[in-house]
Amino acid sequence: MMITPVVWQQALAEALSDPVELFTLLELPKELLPAAFKADADFRLKVPRSFIQKMTKGDIKDPLLVQILPSGIEMEQRLGFVDDPLLENHVNPIPGLLHKYQSRALLIVTGACGINCRYCFRRHFPYHDNKPSQTEWIHALDYLQQHPEINEVILSGGDPLLAPDHVLAALVAKISMIPHIQTLRIHTRLPVFIPSRITPALITWFTTSRLKPVLVTHINHPREIDASFVGSMQRLQKNGVTLLNQSVLLRGVNDQVDVLRELSITLFQQAGILPYYLHLLDRVNGGAHFEVPVVEATLLMQRLRAALAGYLVPRLAQEVAGAASKFVLG
Ligand SMILES: *Cc1c(COP(=O)(O)O)cnc(C)c1O
Ligand code: SF4
Repeated sequence: MMITPVVWQQALAEALSDPVELFTLLELPKELLPAAFKADADFRLKVPRSFIQKMTKGDIKDPLLVQILPSGIEMEQRLGFVDDPLLENHVNPIPGLLHKYQSRALLIVTGACGINCRYCFRRHFPYHDNKPSQTEWIHALDYLQQHPEINEVILSGGDPLLAPDHVLAALVAKISMIPHIQTLRIHTRLPVFIPSRITPALITWFTTSRLKPVLVTHINHPREIDASFVGSMQRLQKNGVTLLNQSVLLRGVNDQVDVLRELSITLFQQAGILPYYLHLLDRVNGGAHFEVPVVEATLLMQRLRAALAGYLVPRLAQEVAGAASKFVLG
């Protein structure tokens, strides 16, 4: 029997991964191609076509493009930038589960992602060891069962929404049988470029269990938000999902007060999403050129607080290896 892929799987399968095609589509300067190929060999180019359509042709500095374009600058080694900046290998008690903060456990549903962001702190993460099989899920669920201090399960990745609905539905059914778990949170970037991922089946497994549903999107720039994404968020909200967003503060993408202001306003006014975190970059090899220094970030936040209602100001946060929570900067 032929299984026809659903719309969102089709969109994923058609993601662009050839630097030449990207350069041609966006009319980018060809002399940058050799460097792009080098960086691509270290961490593959991968970008869904709907995301490319939001970019401006011929603009090498387009804030959406720079998030995904492999470039020569990534190959420069910089002191203090490492492969595993969060030392996550040490909080990985069983494959597929991170228990770093007391009340929340994070399940790595899949190591794969729908897009490859150049600044990703997991670009060197040993995903091969973190593709839990059915039997490993049993271990992760046992761990949750045995840790009553955990009241929230976070589905993460990679991007957890790459997993098909029947897999997620089965997993959520099992999580909801653990009495001390109260909240189910999903961290995903997928809906902003593949809004059709918010399927009726997803809404059912996500919103009809005992668990309080929270969805955290990952959007860095206001131009990422469009009408079909807004539609998908409205469907979630109508069904009782709390919507939050986290961004990464990135040089050349959103390191201006005006951009951050517009991002918060667009998220809230159009999509009903409240800003949650604005992360300082994790110091991962290859991502150094995206870094905005703490002093500058703090100043940006000061100006942002003056420009926005308090509830539209994200918390400036930093991951500190070994700390009990994310570090929120004043
Ligand atoms: C960010 C993160 C969480 C969630 O932290 P919150 O501050 O509750 O958003 C949980 N586990 C891990 C490993 C994380 O990185
Ligand atoms: S969406 Fe998140 S996990 Fe995936 S590549 Fe981008 S930063 Fe990394």
